Amino acid sequence: GKVDYKADQKFADHMKEKSEASSDFAKKKSLLEQRQYLPIFAVRQQLLNIIRDNSIVIVVGETGSGKTTQLTQYLHEDGYTRYGMVGCTQPRRVAAMSVAKRVSEEIGSNLGEEVGYAIRFEDCTSESTMIKYMTDGILLRESLRESDLDHYSAVIMDEAHERSLNTDVLFGLLREVVSRRNDLKLIVTSATMDSDKFAAFFGNVPIFHIPGRTFPVDILFSKTPQEDYVEAAVKQALQIHLSGMVGDILIFMPGQEDIEVTSDQIVERLGELDNAPPLAVLPIYSQLPSDLQAKIFQKAPDGVRKCIVATNIAETSLTVDGIMFVVDSGYCKLKVFNPRIGMDALQVYPISQANANQRSGRAGRTGPGQCYRLYTQSAYKNEMLTTTIPEIQRTNLANVVLLLKSLGVQDLLLFHFMDPPPEDNMLNSMYQLWILGALDNTGESNCLCTCNKKFSVPESDHLTYLNVYNQWKNNNYSSIWCNDHFIHTKAMRKVREVRSQLKDIMVQQKMNLVSCGSDWDVIRKCICAAYFHQAAKLKGIGEYVNVRTGMPCHLHPTSSLFGMGYTPDYIIYHELVMTTKEYMQCVTAVDGEWLAELGPMFYSVKQAGRSRQENRRRAKDEITNMEEEMAMAQEQLRTRREE
Ligand code: ADP
Ligand code: MG
Repeated sequence: GKVDYKADQKFADHMKEKSEASSDFAKKKSLLEQRQYLPIFAVRQQLLNIIRDNSIVIVVGETGSGKTTQLTQYLHEDGYTRYGMVGCTQPRRVAAMSVAKRVSEEIGSNLGEEVGYAIRFEDCTSESTMIKYMTDGILLRESLRESDLDHYSAVIMDEAHERSLNTDVLFGLLREVVSRRNDLKLIVTSATMDSDKFAAFFGNVPIFHIPGRTFPVDILFSKTPQEDYVEAAVKQALQIHLSGMVGDILIFMPGQEDIEVTSDQIVERLGELDNAPPLAVLPIYSQLPSDLQAKIFQKAPDGVRKCIVATNIAETSLTVDGIMFVVDSGYCKLKVFNPRIGMDALQVYPISQANANQRSGRAGRTGPGQCYRLYTQSAYKNEMLTTTIPEIQRTNLANVVLLLKSLGVQDLLLFHFMDPPPEDNMLNSMYQLWILGALDNTGESNCLCTCNKKFSVPESDHLTYLNVYNQWKNNNYSSIWCNDHFIHTKAMRKVREVRSQLKDIMVQQKMNLVSCGSDWDVIRKCICAAYFHQAAKLKGIGEYVNVRTGMPCHLHPTSSLFGMGYTPDYIIYHELVMTTKEYMQCVTAVDGEWLAELGPMFYSVKQAGRSRQENRRRAKDEITNMEEEMAMAQEQLRTRREE
């Protein structure tokens, strides 16, 4: 279908005036003036008073009112950071990083000093950090090590309306922490919806509304359903751009792939036109390198319009000033448990009415705007849910179960969830964990999560095990020691047995028995020599890909490398398990050079002089040959074992 909207000329003129007045805003005003212009500034003292008088406060305010960037600073200015950090959680990594950067600029310090952030595999904080932005997953992990969150004087749970899985679990946990610690402040922020429900959940706590400052937004629905939302969005964006109306454009797409196609198409088609006005097309999604992400906030050169193509990160998490036009595809990506494959899958779904309203609101921040919805009014009314189903009710709960078990929660079915997940999901996840050996027959966790973190060797699970063994040995192989540290004595005895067998073999073979002492690199290299065919390379934040197949794979939450802020470029893994994702279990950091040295049939250090093409072909040939050999060797082993 063709997108067909008529822009009202009077409206366009009006917008032109408005936006000319506001476009230079950021350039002319100092950071302090910008801070003082935010709606939250007008209620700063009232807000601080209500926080002083209450342990828990719900703060509601339109996107862009200053909740995320200002609340932390207000608490800091009011003295809370004198006896602990002010933490602020975000459901998204990008938001945590970007907002921390902005706030460090506002405060006038380097990122990582007074203001820092922590996301999985990346800890940009220091001894001097007083304001810490982090993903909700990080705070959840921290609560494992320090259940009362003693390092914090205040925690802001931001973007609570998103109802991410981690946020929902944190709700239940923090409710208890606050009841134990009356010196901790908990602030839950939301962009309007669900605030009554939050207040009730935390025990009828006060709700503070930040008066908004928004402009009217014209909503224009598509007259007919669109078959291809990418195509429709491209057309719509070009139509706006060529209409002569002033103001930046924000397009909502479900994910990275659609964003890339949309951006490319817009640039390509604009290139085909003669004398088209310049347009800066700026994509934003979580995997985009952070320097490119930062571009969406930069001012475009005079006379250049910005066109941001975003996931729902731009719905409430990030606010970009100057947006006058929103183009809404009507879709988003959601993680949903797929019972057929027994895993969570990220799939494209229609958004909810709440999402749609948030999206259109983005056009009315700095002046009146327009929102083009690429779906019909009847689809909005009849097909869309009022609000999105919380993640906890639609995804696999294995991680949550494991985490709660590690925290010592006895009966998970009694855990205080705001919206409890279906009981069946909970029981299924427990069953799954039992199969994996993470829960025992009584439903208790024997994972390495809690106590055993103290044995962690940050670069290796194998060495972590060795560490456990050595300490057991130092404690005279005591079973009481095992019990005290939640370690299975039986398993340890087995380890000792295998060790002595290996030793016997070495003696028989007249091999030298020498210890490597404390030079554990030797051990890592030795493990590498046996497992180089199971290697993974760091791809993005916390994400690895199999070096040979290119398949994405993830660190298992029980790994000592998980969430330690240490991310080696190369690791080898002992085995792969499929639960919610493809997980590598038992991993060790290795040097890339070791892989080339010990597994030359698989890997080579890229050599100068030889073309990349040639390199690739060579490596591929050898891998195939090698894999055939391995298959044969395995077959032989199997038949031998059967005999
Ligand atoms: P809220 O959390 O209420 O949605 P924020 O505190 O995120 O509001 O944003 C307040 C204002 O701060 C935004 O309108 C924007 O002008 C500015 N801002 C936020 N993040 C950035 C950034 N990374 N770069 C530039 N400006 C930013
Ligand atoms: Mg915010």
